[in-house]
Amino acid sequence: MTEVLDSLNENQYKAATTIDSHVRIIAGAGSGKTRVLMARIVYLVNTIGVYPSRILAITFTNKATNEMKERLIHLLGEDAYSVRISTIHALCVRILREDADKLGYPKSFTILDSDDQRSILNPFYRELDIDKKSFPVNKVIGFISSHKMAHVDPDEAENYVQTEDQEIMVKLYRKYEKKKKEMKAFDFDDLLLEGNHLLNFDREVREKWQNRLDYIHVDEFQDVDPTQYGIIRLLTGPDTKLCVVGDPDQTIYTWRGASVDIILRFDKDFPDCKTLILNQNYRSTQPILNASNAVIAHNQSRIKKDLFTQLPGNEKIHVHCESDDDQEPLYVARLVKQRHDQGVPYANMAVLYRSNYTSRAFEKRMRQAGIPYVVYGGIRFYERQEIKDALSYLKLCTRPDLEDPQQFSLDLAVTRVINQPRRKIGAVSLQKIQDEASRRHINMLETMRHSEDLTGATKKRCEDFVHLIDDLRSHREDYALEDFLDYVLDRSGYMNMLEQEEDTARIDNLKELKQDIAQTVQENPDTTLETYLQDISLFTDRNEVANSDHILLMTVHAAKGLEFDTVFLVNFNDGIFPSLRSMDEGGNAALEEERRLCYVAMTRAKKALYITYNRGYSYMLEGNKLPSRFLKEIPDTFIESDAIQTRNQPQKPILSSRPKAGHHSKYRKGDLVEHTVYGQGVIIKIEGRVATIAFDHKIGVKKLNILHPSLKKV
Ligand code: ATP
Ligand code: MG
Repeated sequence: MTEVLDSLNENQYKAATTIDSHVRIIAGAGSGKTRVLMARIVYLVNTIGVYPSRILAITFTNKATNEMKERLIHLLGEDAYSVRISTIHALCVRILREDADKLGYPKSFTILDSDDQRSILNPFYRELDIDKKSFPVNKVIGFISSHKMAHVDPDEAENYVQTEDQEIMVKLYRKYEKKKKEMKAFDFDDLLLEGNHLLNFDREVREKWQNRLDYIHVDEFQDVDPTQYGIIRLLTGPDTKLCVVGDPDQTIYTWRGASVDIILRFDKDFPDCKTLILNQNYRSTQPILNASNAVIAHNQSRIKKDLFTQLPGNEKIHVHCESDDDQEPLYVARLVKQRHDQGVPYANMAVLYRSNYTSRAFEKRMRQAGIPYVVYGGIRFYERQEIKDALSYLKLCTRPDLEDPQQFSLDLAVTRVINQPRRKIGAVSLQKIQDEASRRHINMLETMRHSEDLTGATKKRCEDFVHLIDDLRSHREDYALEDFLDYVLDRSGYMNMLEQEEDTARIDNLKELKQDIAQTVQENPDTTLETYLQDISLFTDRNEVANSDHILLMTVHAAKGLEFDTVFLVNFNDGIFPSLRSMDEGGNAALEEERRLCYVAMTRAKKALYITYNRGYSYMLEGNKLPSRFLKEIPDTFIESDAIQTRNQPQKPILSSRPKAGHHSKYRKGDLVEHTVYGQGVIIKIEGRVATIAFDHKIGVKKLNILHPSLKKV
């Protein structure tokens, strides 16, 4: 049981066993920070005898939570189930579920995921006559989120309005917040903000939680934002000991408010704190570690670290250039196959990219090459059709108060499953039901129960569907929650449908869902159907297919904290990695964040690191792509020799991928311009090389490339 402690080096051991003060561990990638956290929990439980539920560990992602749980089950056995391991969002759900009434919310509050946010915003576009193209929903959601996290409410935001665009954004922000309050719902940001607020203003709640926790651990502490840090501080009572671990060189969420100052100033907030440094890397071979160190050394604002490794292995970094976006994934797929043939399981490999949109081409090639893969954060487990269908059936089994505006959220579920399996209720009939429902101000289910508009066979089929739901509802108490899922799937004919189609993959996914419900109930016996349905909306990145051997395709952000035998860092081109935005407008700070991201990517590799890029034409960059500027920062000695030549060849772009400084600075906001087709207009915004220009009212507002020859200053 203590083997994990015995394996630690001196500093790691000290970090794991210093329990009489707060502890801060600052250390580079792969130096065992996460491992030390786990060893510390084992030490607290096994050696010191701390009650497991009095220990909290906060992880950054759900994937990290699951991994830590699994490892601890292995190390601690049964006790591991009681250790509180969760993301900070899930922790806030827990806190709010107990006491949300103190904030005037029901304890069964709704949690809104990004789909829900979109469906709240959508109707406002019509209502306010706003063009979706000029104000993409995602952008609006981002705007709302950044304002909320900066504690700027719609009233205050209005004070900052300078342009018409901003005014519209603030209008949407206001309507969104109002609607959300009416629904008694929290979005993900609210979970943190309201969690923080509750702990802050309600002493009873705060002390209750402080008295429950003796030891708090926070992994990836370099990426906490002030709100999260506030929560952590409020949970730390006079007798609680805090242990935070992080690597300032891996801060990659400053764009979302994370602040590296928090870890650097930690000893000012907690003077009774011991700081420990870990220097030995246990993950990567020398070429990989040294190359990563060389890249991150180019950052000016950082604390220098000396990280070394004693791991055997000297495979140099492979760098390869392909002709275009089509060829690069082909090359990678070939290599993946090759390494697999050499004995590396697919699950020990990952393809990492800077931006989600680049995954598609790699997916296609993997599929063609017959390589099992999972797009992490792509089609997620809970977004799969059969899972959504099953959850919709379960949702219909909740019985909302008919006075409650939430009752209409059932309509989504009705439309989803009314013909799964087929019940011959066609689109026209559905439309009729929807029309009648909105006329009578009741939900679709209640409409179908005593419809005034439907007739004949359709009316009968709809009534049968209602009776089915009534039957499911009436059996809800007869089963344990996970068994109730079986009842629902059998009684509704859904399982039968899949069996007929011999769709084993879907059936397996549904079994996995049952597993999930059972596990949730085991961890929290108070789980009800309602809270389960609400809480899973948090777990949008849990998409593992249990135990199958597949390669992971994921963004670098999502790969944080993970490690793989072989890593393919792809699309390593200027304008992609670093991103165009960071090159164009972010100044040095943005570029340094991209470099940290690059450091995170490279240090995921244990034995082999492949870096690929291509010289194809890019519409986004309006020219042929150039290799990433970070490539030059890797010293030749760590790169496989045949690649050095390609890298050092003169790179002649067809068009510079980055406009020269001053080139578009001749334009300013407010300038009058002449476009060859649109005529005269006024620049209302410049973002990088994108100018938002208001033309004559017949043309409207357009976003144009400011460098395009069709545009001239008047
Ligand atoms: P990151 O900064 O990427 O999150 P980390 O500092 O959390 O990295 P870990 O993931 O804990 O590092 O450790 C990296 C790898 O090294 C893991 O496989 C871990 O099991 C292994 N490791 C760490 N310390 C030791 C040790 N003392 N002996 C053997 N293996 C170790
Ligand atoms: Mg870690």
